[in-house]
Amino acid sequence: MKLSWKTFLLWSLPILVVSFFLWQGFLAPTTSELNTNIASSRMTYGRFLEYLDMGWVKRVDMYDNNHTAIIEAVGPELGNRVQKIRVELPASAPELVTKLRKANIDLDAHPTRNTSALWNLLGNLLFPLFLIGGLALLFRRSNGGAGGPGQAMSFGKSKALFQMEAKTGVIFDDVAGINEAKEEFEEVVTFLKQPECFTAVGAKIPKGVLLVGPPGTGKTLLAKAIAGEANVPFFSISGSEFVEMFVGVGASRVRDLFKKAKENAPCIVFIDEIDAVGRQRGTGIGGGNDEREQTLNQLLTEMDGFEGNTGIIVIAATNRADILDSALLRPGRFDRQVSVEVPDFKGRLAILQVHARNKKIDSFVSLDTIARRTPGFSGADLANLLNEAAILTARRRKLSITLNEIDSSIDRVVAGMEGTPLVDSKSKRLIAYHEIGHAVVGTLLQDHDPVQKVTLIPRGQARGLTWFTPSEDPSLISRSQILCKIMGALGGRAAEEVVFGDAEVTTGASNDLQQVTSMARQMVTRFGMSNIGPLSLESEESNPFLGRGMANTSDYSDEIAIKIDQQIQYIVRECHQKAVNIIRENRVVIDRLVDLLIEKETIDGGEFRQIINEYTPVPNKQFSVN
Ligand code: ADP
Ligand code: MG
Ligand code: ZN
Repeated sequence: MKLSWKTFLLWSLPILVVSFFLWQGFLAPTTSELNTNIASSRMTYGRFLEYLDMGWVKRVDMYDNNHTAIIEAVGPELGNRVQKIRVELPASAPELVTKLRKANIDLDAHPTRNTSALWNLLGNLLFPLFLIGGLALLFRRSNGGAGGPGQAMSFGKSKALFQMEAKTGVIFDDVAGINEAKEEFEEVVTFLKQPECFTAVGAKIPKGVLLVGPPGTGKTLLAKAIAGEANVPFFSISGSEFVEMFVGVGASRVRDLFKKAKENAPCIVFIDEIDAVGRQRGTGIGGGNDEREQTLNQLLTEMDGFEGNTGIIVIAATNRADILDSALLRPGRFDRQVSVEVPDFKGRLAILQVHARNKKIDSFVSLDTIARRTPGFSGADLANLLNEAAILTARRRKLSITLNEIDSSIDRVVAGMEGTPLVDSKSKRLIAYHEIGHAVVGTLLQDHDPVQKVTLIPRGQARGLTWFTPSEDPSLISRSQILCKIMGALGGRAAEEVVFGDAEVTTGASNDLQQVTSMARQMVTRFGMSNIGPLSLESEESNPFLGRGMANTSDYSDEIAIKIDQQIQYIVRECHQKAVNIIRENRVVIDRLVDLLIEKETIDGGEFRQIINEYTPVPNKQFSVN
């Protein structure tokens, strides 16, 4: 409903009046001074002159362009006390000033006000005009929004409160690789479709489901799929949108959201990034955030307010359930948690199949191989990968996506944009030795992932890259595998040292060394793989409320801290020595491989192994390479 202008005038009139007084009070000092100076008594001009002649006038203040004077005088009529009296001066009283001067009376003329009078008038008009203008704006806004009668003054409203999709168009078939989560939700869909089945036997449906998982794993997609499958509207808002500048806005948004949801039940309410509002109360460093707490409280109130059977199901997503306020996780709120993980090989394959549906992919491409090459990729990464490949295919004016485009896209997603190769130079040779160093050490170690390719084409930050085909299950790694990884990572620097000497080593290894140090440290402090023993000395998760560095305060004695450092050093030194040995022992083939790499820019894994095999037997690794 539109608000009528009648209502508008009704509001603006009192504001006009009030503002006028305000203006008078604040911004017209001369007039007000005059007004406060007004003695209760007045005097005619003639009488004033008489007083002047009698010498009873002590002081004169002229105001209003010399039209008014306030005099201080004593006299018998005034009870012999100094009093202030107001005198209206005639228009032409030029002789007055000289007269006052002669009589040596304190005289003060206050600034003339002919211009300021105009300003005053303008001001008097402008101020209320501003107010009315502002009010009118507010009216228009609230009318344009999801307005209703009597909402003119609810400031917390704006158009982009939350998104509502009547139909999401997403179905369960669009979601792959997260089957456990999907099964949990099929029940929710049944409830939304046939609530009778549940209510008949007295079952209470969970009001809230919490989806927990890393970004890009398909949480939003899954929530949308539920709405799509059940054919109900989908309301969504992000936790970070709640937390706004104006206090009280978050809470009012929650209220609005649930109000709308109730009107549209059955429906799904999706709250993304709920940790932004729902983190543990009172733990923030530097004091709590009232706004956030109010929003959270409102959310809790709303969730308590509706009965489980109204047909609203609240789905929230977060990547950190551990920091959520425990009040959110109590029964009757988000009492169900469904975790969504980064997909494994099978999951990746399934997700690739979903996203390959609407793309023209060459029949030689096996999604299986792509899935194998992409451990750690989330659903979003995989979707992005196929899309990149499709774009590249179109750019190359090909008709279908081939392995070539997919390879480039994987490289791009992992390592960034491709750069232009260096021209042959000393630094190019050094980079070549560095990369071949990684590749040779990696190839000759039994427990190292096999080389997929070595390239001198820069990508992202890297000036050359050695790619390895990752092992099947990266979540279970043996001690020997980690040691091999460390040796492989040190292979680059080792080659620089052996070939160019200690003085010539470069900063190119800094990233390798970071990885090496972190792996060695984890071996000692997390995996119990050093002679300190099977102790867990540091945990993976740092305190979410502290910065990373701050959180790692020691759970162990200084004595252990020294031992940790010694063990890390020991591991790295041993691995480095082994890498150096491998490089020394294979110097001949390394020189040959470097020449080949500089010539060809890229050597693929098969050819690489073949060449090495001419000199040294290459250990047979479990994994086949594409
Ligand atoms: P999240 O909300 O967990 O951060 P999204 O649901 O927004 O992730 O995922 C982003 C996109 O990635 C989706 O729109 C979809 O294209 C793709 N995606 C992610 N996970 C999956 C999955 N399990 N199955 C299919 N596609 C997925
Ligand atoms: Mg999301
Ligand atoms: Zn390196």
